[in-house]
Amino acid sequence: MKTILIVGGGAAGIAAAISAADAAPGARILLLERLDRVGKKLLATGNGRCNLTNQQACASHYHSSTPREAAAVLRGMEPAAALSFFEDLGLRWTQEDEGRIYPYCMQASMVLDVLLAALAERHIEIVCPAPVRSIRAANGRFDVDAGQHISADAVILCAGGRAAPKLGSDGSGYALAKSLGHSCTPLYPALTALCCDMRTSGGLKGIRASAEVSIFSGETCLGTRRGEVLFTEYGLSGIAVMDLSLLLPQAKKRPSFAELDLFSDEEEAALLRELRTRRSRFAAAPLERFLLGTVHKRLGFTLMKQAGFGALSRRCETLTDPELAALVRLLKHWRFSITGVQGYGQAQVTFGGIPLSEIDENTMESKLCKGLYLAGEILDITGDCGGYNLHWAWCSGIRAGRAAAKEVGA
Ligand SMILES: Cc1cc2nc3c(=O)[nH]c(=O)nc-3n(C[C@H](O)[C@H](O)[C@H](O)COP(=O)(O)OP(=O)(O)OC[C@H]3O[C@@H](n4cnc5c(N)ncnc54)[C@H](O)[C@@H]3O)c2cc1C
Repeated sequence: MKTILIVGGGAAGIAAAISAADAAPGARILLLERLDRVGKKLLATGNGRCNLTNQQACASHYHSSTPREAAAVLRGMEPAAALSFFEDLGLRWTQEDEGRIYPYCMQASMVLDVLLAALAERHIEIVCPAPVRSIRAANGRFDVDAGQHISADAVILCAGGRAAPKLGSDGSGYALAKSLGHSCTPLYPALTALCCDMRTSGGLKGIRASAEVSIFSGETCLGTRRGEVLFTEYGLSGIAVMDLSLLLPQAKKRPSFAELDLFSDEEEAALLRELRTRRSRFAAAPLERFLLGTVHKRLGFTLMKQAGFGALSRRCETLTDPELAALVRLLKHWRFSITGVQGYGQAQVTFGGIPLSEIDENTMESKLCKGLYLAGEILDITGDCGGYNLHWAWCSGIRAGRAAAKEVGA
């Protein structure tokens, strides 16, 4: 009986195992996971709801040091491919804003339950905890050391990256790939929060605001995203900010600041007119009243302080036109000096990995080691926030599983 061994029981590994079993019902499929259970990271995805794919999944939502190879490998990985995989397993789904797809019951645990049921129905052998320490290729077979020695006809390496090590992926997959002849591009934590100088913006921890966020290197804008921004004690977070963190490894120069536009639908002149109206309407009231009803209360106080308004007991009618203009500038161009990014512990994904040029785009098979397949985050391709990374993990896993099954011919 032919054996297909899969390293890593995350999204890519589980999808690979199920697809390999469907394509080669006579084969022995082994899924090795270093933690004591498979799919632990899945439970944490999408804030426990699992944003499992996106209707807009296409090459423009992915980042790689080889964009041409990325576009090629993504061909045939349309949203329908991931959705039909889950529909076949009996998972009902629903679509939210910006094409984000979730399980209908909004529970990540339901996605995992469905996958576990599918693994069991196909008699896939799950071995855990089984940290794979080495893989040796010789005479068209593999000898895998995971505490016990296992021989396999094909290996699918789905060991993830370095992000969120508590949930499993500790980066050991890169060493395994390298031992089989692969290289690895520089690695960075990505989809993570920005560390900023918050000395003049203390006390904002926990506040959320909707904004247009831009990242600048000097006066060059590297990218802009619109969405929710979360203020933290160390800097800025939220989906828009995390998405922009993907641009940092690609920036030629060090990014210097993030800029928030808290009223992106409003021209500066219109905003100034609105503030003048508020000055008249709340003339006798203290400054505490001035921005009440517009932005979060604490945010408003910080902005007025930074605009140099002085004591909040001051009456609104005393505000001068230059002071209002200074506040408008802040509301439209609030700058935060970037000091770094949060590390792998907080990052959702790893930017970089095994170059896509070292795999066959149609099968995910290594061009350097026959019978070895790679899928998921271990490869040098990273998606935006919004279901794109799981989409990649499922689709690359499915492709690798089917190809490995075809190759071993069981
Ligand atoms: C908190 C959080 C929330 C997220 N939310 C979303 C979301 O909603 N939507 C989305 O698209 N993406 C999300 N992501 C990203 C997404 O989860 C990952 O991109 C995806 O899980 C990668 O799948 P993978 O199978 O390649 O790697 P992983 O899921 O990391 O799985 C790799 C597995 O391999 C195992 N392993 C590693 N090394 C070895 C070894 N040597 N031997 C045996 N086993 C090993 C690990 O323990 C792990 O279980 C989120 C990530 C995090 C951290």
